[in-house]
Amino acid sequence: MNAVVYKGKQEVAVEEVETPQIEHPNDVVIDITTTCICGSDLHMYEGRTAAEPGIVFGHENMGTVEEVGEAVSDLEIGDRVVAPFNVACGFCENCENGYTGFCTNVNPGFAGGAYGYVAMGPYQGGQAEKLRIPYADFNALKLPDGREHEDSFALLADIFPTGWHGTELANLESGDSVAIYGAGPVGLMAAYSAKLKGAAEIYVVDRVPSRLTLAEEHCDATPINFEEGDPVEQIKEIHGSGVDKGVDAVGYQAIDPDKEADDAYDPARENPAVVINNLIRTVRPTGELGIPGLYVPDDPGAPDEMAAQGRLGIDFGLLFEKGQALGTGQCNVKEYNRKLRDMIIEGRADPSWVVSHRVDLEDAPGMYEKFDNREAGVTKVLLEP
Ligand code: NAD
Ligand code: ZN
Repeated sequence: MNAVVYKGKQEVAVEEVETPQIEHPNDVVIDITTTCICGSDLHMYEGRTAAEPGIVFGHENMGTVEEVGEAVSDLEIGDRVVAPFNVACGFCENCENGYTGFCTNVNPGFAGGAYGYVAMGPYQGGQAEKLRIPYADFNALKLPDGREHEDSFALLADIFPTGWHGTELANLESGDSVAIYGAGPVGLMAAYSAKLKGAAEIYVVDRVPSRLTLAEEHCDATPINFEEGDPVEQIKEIHGSGVDKGVDAVGYQAIDPDKEADDAYDPARENPAVVINNLIRTVRPTGELGIPGLYVPDDPGAPDEMAAQGRLGIDFGLLFEKGQALGTGQCNVKEYNRKLRDMIIEGRADPSWVVSHRVDLEDAPGMYEKFDNREAGVTKVLLEP
């Protein structure tokens, strides 16, 4: 079958790879109908991780069940399903408590598993014609038959629940004010979740005008362009005392506005501490921060530039002085995606506005390049084998 294969720094190709098969009685194999490119794929794509050439990308997958292992009880051939990006067993202590992003069985020695991702277990990615889903009764969420809501349902694999998770980590409640740093797909879904939860005021910070416009149009957010001045000052000019809650949907690749740019997207401007420090300043004393943006531990296998990115120059003293709380980590997709699915079915949520492109799997290499450059108008890209 064809799949998106990592070839090396900033290069992917669509190539023939081995077709996945049932390996365990708990598995199913699905025919992929939609699979998405994620900001998390870019960490590997940009050569910042220990990902080896040859890995098949793709952790945001949906499709139709094509083959069913003999121990699977809830799924049948032809079922339409979406797969949370976390691979989880469903019965370890963390899974039992809803922390399916931290399953201790699927990827021994590391907290959590995922499809097509470095260090997250032996699970081939789904930017391909087919995908094997382990522990399938737990890891596949059934969807209504047909093609309705295809874009929205595809977002249930990761970014809609992850945006929701960002607001949960900050304990966002109806009536709260919230600042969201990052208007990429995850930040936009966090802003949309804040709107759905009844936030009173939503500020979204980024530098890409087309992304800020989406936040304004679909989330009733106040857009804050950090290239036009200190975002904390801009928010405090409108909201003097500091907002109740904050979400970091950027991660370690944060651009530091104080560093000069050589071109449109210049990695030399990165400063992994800048967003968390801005959040601590933006949120009021005793407010709460949610950090779904990705930070990495020291990884002996990773390139040198990665090594220090998990140890940040965070102003912990100010966090302490303000008595703020923070939550972080992989999204426990399973915990949210059933109810978010039902909100889509009932017409109470429609996150599909974040999708900017739906293209053939063969077009993945060009779309990776555009998404990596945060090109205007390229927000969320869906691939169709
Ligand atoms: P993305 O790279 O498209 O979005 C990041 C956005 O942040 C960009 O629009 C960029 O312009 C903006 N940005 C850069 N510097 C900034 C700054 N100083 N202030 C405000 N905005 C700034 O990626 P995405 O797909 O939206 O993902 C965002 C992050 O979430 C990534 O780190 C990704 O790995 C992570 N992620 C985490 C989980 C999880 O389970 N916790 C799941 C999916 C993605
Ligand atoms: Zn993702």
